[in-house]
Amino acid sequence: MTLKNPILIAKNLRKTYKVGDVETHAVNNVNFTIYEGEFVVILGPSGSGKSTLMNLVGGMDEITSGELYYRDSPVHNFSKKQIVKYRRDVVGFIFQFYNLLPSLTCYENVSLVAELSKNPLKVKDVLDKVGLLEREKHFPAQLSGGQQQRVAIARAIVKAPELLLCDEPTGALDTQMGEQILLLLKKINKEDKKTIIIISHDPDLLKFADRCLVIKDGHLSEKEEF
Ligand code: ADP
Repeated sequence: MTLKNPILIAKNLRKTYKVGDVETHAVNNVNFTIYEGEFVVILGPSGSGKSTLMNLVGGMDEITSGELYYRDSPVHNFSKKQIVKYRRDVVGFIFQFYNLLPSLTCYENVSLVAELSKNPLKVKDVLDKVGLLEREKHFPAQLSGGQQQRVAIARAIVKAPELLLCDEPTGALDTQMGEQILLLLKKINKEDKKTIIIISHDPDLLKFADRCLVIKDGHLSEKEEF
């Protein structure tokens, strides 16, 4: 039996937004353990707290209360400097609308991140992995949505992060292109042993998942059968 190592542990994690007199517990006392190498889908409808949870896990938003551990490190107690390092070295982000820089080529979009990274992979190797080496000189506007998302995936993995956080990565794609993106993420998960967390409203993604967590009104639970 292979031993599973936790990579992320949340204990009573909470994010509360206050607007005027109204308090919203967007993430409400959430507990979970994510293990190394897992492919996890967090499923929830709009407004359920998915993006807030992703922002907490990715070190992009401040935790209101509770604990979040990356391996043995307490993310909830990180200084500003430590959180920048965590975002830069540990986490790769993939968004619904790719967020590529339109005035840079594929190669340049990826190499920009490589230059800021501690131990980057070779840009050409990464473009090859996502199947876009022959398009390296293309600009985002010259690519299909699926190809642009591949560049975004290359940009996320070039810094060799341990964890990939994907926010509706297929949300702007048709079914066929979406499936291809998920197969690519699955390949990266298996071959490169990356832990992948996807948040989505779309239950179709579950066929690619090892595990499914469901979020509703800020509360997280495990979905046993899917
Ligand atoms: P999802 O990603 O599932 O659509 P969100 O995490 O964006 O959900 O939002 C969860 C809840 O938190 C919603 O009720 C939303 O209105 C509220 N919320 C999100 N961001 C903010 C914010 N910056 N200020 C106030 N309320 C927010």
